[in-house]
Amino acid sequence: MRTSERKRTDTTMTETTGDHTDRGAPGASSGAVWLRRALLDIASALRPDRGPVVAREWSDAVRLLDPEPVGFRSVFLIGVGWDGRPSPSKFGETLTAFTESGWEVRRNETEDRGGESWGTARREEFEVRVYEAGRSGLVTLTGWTPVTYPERRLGQPPFTRSTADGVLCDDCHGWGVCLTCEGRPYERRYQRCWCIANNAGPGRCVECAGRGLRHPAIVPWWRPRHVLHEAEGAMPPPVAEAGHESTLSALVDVAQRTCACGEFRCSWRNVLDAEGDRPLSRFVGACQGCDAERAHTFVLPPL
Ligand SMILES: [Zn+2]
Ligand SMILES: [Zn+2]
Ligand SMILES: [Zn+2]
Repeated sequence: MRTSERKRTDTTMTETTGDHTDRGAPGASSGAVWLRRALLDIASALRPDRGPVVAREWSDAVRLLDPEPVGFRSVFLIGVGWDGRPSPSKFGETLTAFTESGWEVRRNETEDRGGESWGTARREEFEVRVYEAGRSGLVTLTGWTPVTYPERRLGQPPFTRSTADGVLCDDCHGWGVCLTCEGRPYERRYQRCWCIANNAGPGRCVECAGRGLRHPAIVPWWRPRHVLHEAEGAMPPPVAEAGHESTLSALVDVAQRTCACGEFRCSWRNVLDAEGDRPLSRFVGACQGCDAERAHTFVLPPL
């Protein structure tokens, strides 16, 4: 486990003002069970005729300086979808369903990229990324619990790998602060952390300047396993694969696949396309481990 040094700082990073047990909703230990149920209930109501699918469930580990994790959060990817034909948008209805269940909803007003929509829903420390694909009718809910710590009491990190909108800083693991002093270099009387001398400012992680995220373009050596691809030029467009009846079943497949770097976490986007009379379901995303572009295309049965 930890050194005595680490033990002494056990409470420094926490802003914990109580534990994460609830005021009407789930306690920390039952958080994952509660969230899974809540998401499936909302998703089922949207498509009573065709049940939602849990495409993948996993956990994000939270670390400090040591390689072994100090905490975990549970993450669920749930898909709701139609067969491979253009479908009317269910996005507004989805957000309304969250609102009616007591979630605070925000629609991300980004430019229309082929009919896709994004939004978020929050309830206490639970959060859901709501996404609707372009024309395919696929709606995905990516939900996560707060981080729970089996042995220590720490605050919530700004990001974990699945929740970061980009690549997590591998120096501070998304905390955005120097992990040697846990961001509070002045608190210990006889110790000054080396990070004070840095321009990034006291306590801030110098690698990401406190953002918790890194730009792989700035640190190209950081993704050595992709050098081969880069040297060979851009990745060719993916060959369309057969074997799926619907975008939803393709999503379940894609969610099990990993990037060349070994990471499976990826914020997938989807669009329904066509090549002649063959409907194509295209998935694209940026790897949440190395930021490489990932793409898969599936041929769906003819309409
Ligand atoms: Zn950092
Ligand atoms: Zn420090
Ligand atoms: Zn990767």
